[in-house]
Amino acid sequence: MITGTEKIINPLQKSALNKKGLCDYVINIASGCLHGCTFCYVPSTPSIRTQQKKLHQKGVENPQLDWGKYLFMREEVPGKLDQILKRKRKWEETPSGKGVILLCSGTDPYQNKKTAEITRKTLEVLIEHKKKVRILTRGLLWQNDLDILTHPNISLGMSIPCIDDELLKRIEPQAPLSSDRYKALQKGYEAKCRLYVAMAPTPPMMTLENFKFNLEQFMKINPEVIFWEPINARGTNGKRMLSAGLEFAKSIMSRQSWADTFIQQWNDIEIAAQQVGCVDKLHIWPDPSLKGFVSKEKIDNWLYRPTIEKWNSN
Ligand code: SF4
Repeated sequence: MITGTEKIINPLQKSALNKKGLCDYVINIASGCLHGCTFCYVPSTPSIRTQQKKLHQKGVENPQLDWGKYLFMREEVPGKLDQILKRKRKWEETPSGKGVILLCSGTDPYQNKKTAEITRKTLEVLIEHKKKVRILTRGLLWQNDLDILTHPNISLGMSIPCIDDELLKRIEPQAPLSSDRYKALQKGYEAKCRLYVAMAPTPPMMTLENFKFNLEQFMKINPEVIFWEPINARGTNGKRMLSAGLEFAKSIMSRQSWADTFIQQWNDIEIAAQQVGCVDKLHIWPDPSLKGFVSKEKIDNWLYRPTIEKWNSN
């Protein structure tokens, strides 16, 4: 495990994740992620690919395949962010991004004590500047910060592909148990936090019954929205899944088999949402590469679609 800190110039970055209805800006409080999920797409994105040399110098041999074994925290985020927000005049607010800042897109904001500390200080700055914030995590340490996380400008989401500890221990071996993540959401619900669920990414063996069971559980914590996508084979994640012994990865390695699985699960989750009565909360994240496998209209119907969530100014 290699951990350390890293310098940054500007922690606030514009984001294309309005495509998924998530945000217009992102803040990443670290590079690397100790949760090391086998399917994670982050090591194949420019945020890691453009840093290869720097990461080598810090002792990371293979930034892609060693994902989960290194973490460089950005302690300067809160201070720099405050300076930037004091000067900033123009704020991007697209219909689907709603001017929201996502924390984080390329790491987990609550993966250990130090990242939780940076995240808390960052949130204090964002609250002070009246920004809308979406938190996305697999970590549990946010439960210590309920005093600020009940703020109406903060929506807190946990990634839980399914509540199945045995299965997820193989896919997300270093992340907290899915049952503990669900219990944390229950605690957030009792504390009256604004909540959402990222049921993502779902493994290919999930069935209609599994989707139904999980949606029923998630509805008990009254999420404002439930995002969904399946595991997509991208970059080096196929190799990482296979080297973790996940034979199922083979079933989504070809474009055709990946698309077939995607379409099957998309169909199943929509039927499950109808049966559970939460169609209005379900928000699909289709992969644009599905074009050619399903109609363009079906994909475009979801890309850049605003979520059902209500923020202060919407
Ligand atoms: S928690 Fe998120 S960023 Fe971290 S490894 Fe898992 S998917 Fe990637």
